[in-house]
Order: sequence, then C-alpha cells, then structure tokens
Amino acid sequence: MRSGKMKALMKKEGAFGAVLTEVPIPEIDKHEVLIKVQAASICGTDVHIYNWDQWARQRIKTPYVFGHEFSGIVEAVGENAGNVKVGEYVSAETHIVCGKCVPCLAGKSHVCTNTAIIGVDTAGCFAEYVKVPADNVWKNPADMDPAIASIQEPLGNAVHTVLESQPAGGTTAVIGCGPIGLMAVAVAKAAGASQVIAIDKNEYRLALAKQMGATRTVSIEEEDPLKIVSALTSGEGVDLVCEMSGHPSAIAQGLAMAANGGRFHILSLPEHPVTIDLTNKVVFKGLTIQGITGRKMFSTWRQVSQLLSSNVLDLLPVITHQFPLEEFEKGFELMRSGQCGKVILIP
Ligand code: ZN
Repeated sequence: MRSGKMKALMKKEGAFGAVLTEVPIPEIDKHEVLIKVQAASICGTDVHIYNWDQWARQRIKTPYVFGHEFSGIVEAVGENAGNVKVGEYVSAETHIVCGKCVPCLAGKSHVCTNTAIIGVDTAGCFAEYVKVPADNVWKNPADMDPAIASIQEPLGNAVHTVLESQPAGGTTAVIGCGPIGLMAVAVAKAAGASQVIAIDKNEYRLALAKQMGATRTVSIEEEDPLKIVSALTSGEGVDLVCEMSGHPSAIAQGLAMAANGGRFHILSLPEHPVTIDLTNKVVFKGLTIQGITGRKMFSTWRQVSQLLSSNVLDLLPVITHQFPLEEFEKGFELMRSGQCGKVILIP
C-alpha cells in the first residue's frame, strides 16, 4: 500500500477560498479502492464550497479535501474490492448509498435515504489520490480522454434529466446553460428532439449551447422566452422543459412554456421555497413534474459511457479550460464569473 504525502486542495476553515497543501495519502479499508487522479472537474457544488455560502456553511465540515468529479487509475484495492483491479482506468459515482434502505432494495439507490456524497461528506478528488468505495467505481474505455471521463458524473445528471422523457420527435427547452444545461442540450439533440431551445442570459454560454446543438438560443436580456417558444411551437409549448437555473421567475416561465400534457424536469436546487401556480400551470395543463437527483445506478452510467464512446455525443466544446491543480484560483474565478464551460484541474 502506498503511504506518504500528496498535494491536495483543502478547505481548511470556514471562509472564502481554498488552500493547496500536503496531506497524508488516504488509507483504504477492505471495501475501498485508492485512485490516482488524472483529471478532476470543478462542479457548481465545489464553487458553493469555495465561496463558503449559506449551503456550504450548513453542510460542510472543515478541514477537508473537496472535489468529486474525476477520472484516474486504480492504485490499490482493499481485499473485498470485488472485481476492481489495480491499473484499471476509472471514474466514480459520487453518491455513496447504503444498499439496505427500501429505495435501495427497490432498485432506486439514486434516492437512497442514507446517501453520502464523495467530496462533500468525505474527502474528495482535488488531490493526487482519492479513495472511494469499490461499489462506486465505473470502468472507462481505455481510449476515453481523461478530461471527458472526469465529467461523466455531471453528464449523468443531464442524461438522467433528459432521458426520463422521450425527447425523440418532440421539443425540448433547457433553462439555464451552465455546464449541465449545455450537456442536456447535447443529449436532447442526440436523442432526436426536433427542436432544442436553450435559454440563459449569459452570451458566452448561449454561444456554447449553439455549438452543442441548440436549434435556437434565447437571451432573456433581449427576448421574451415565452413569446419565442410559442412562435417556435405553433402556440403548443414544449414537450419537455429541463429546469437547470433555480431562479423562481425562470421556473414560472418554464411551467408556462410547457405544452399541455408535457413534462417539467427539475435538476436545479432553488435556494428558497418557490411559489408556483399549481392550478393553472400544472393541474389544468396535465403537466408531469419530476425532480431529478443524481444518476440511476448504474443504468445512467451505462448510457453516458455508450453515448460518449460511440461519438453520438461530443462533449469537447463543453470543456473550455484546463489548469494544473496549482492554478486552482484561475479555475474557480472562471467558474464564479460564468465565462466558461467545464473547467478541469490536473493534479
Ligand atoms: Zn439506501
């Protein structure tokens, strides 16, 4: 077993920012594996932790190493690590589930009642090494770019959000074009949506949405999304709305632009309770609202892997920046500014 020190990006105390430092390489138990990180991606959650906002203050216990989206090579395995072997090229599902609660037993472990999250509740991957339960390991094809392999977890969120509906031949709107929104645009297009309407206020990200296959982009600073959607759908509205923004006004617009009998899938996490017109915008429209959390384990991972390895999805345009871990501040500043897609850190 490898021992000694590694470089790691730590949240040392409850304050803005993070510190690059040296910490002991994690020790694994018999159900865990140690992975040498090749690429780690910055998630919106990591930005919350970096900013030390309200959510982070309530959830995160410092000091600890954060980060949870990664790819790497298995360095060591515990004696009960099952079929995971040293040298394998892997990524990991970030939800650590109990396998014993009713949702887990019923095959719905993405809504396990005892979920812990790698890099939120445990030490994460902004480091040379990360340990994860062997059950969380997902094996990658040898020729997959490590940066692409590191964003399979958020891509899984996009795939889960879009493919819980049947987008082929229908219309999809994606509200909020952060990295997962951009990936949702690509997934909807790949899945055969006849129109994919991408809505945001950030021009940089709307340009990326266009690259990812959006048939129409709408800047809310310049146009009324409801009017545009109505014009593009002969007044019917869109069959699937993917809510990725978390803004109350965008949520109200999203419900209004959904077609009667349509679907409204919410991946965003609004900061506060949101008031919606259930009577007119949901009940009388026969709308189906679905919350999306995590990835189905592991059917979503299988879809993600196959969409990427078959080149049905090309996610390279979403990865706009890569930095060595030492330059983490550049990466986090970009993420805070919104002038980027996915930002990758290389330890
Ligand atoms: Zn469970």
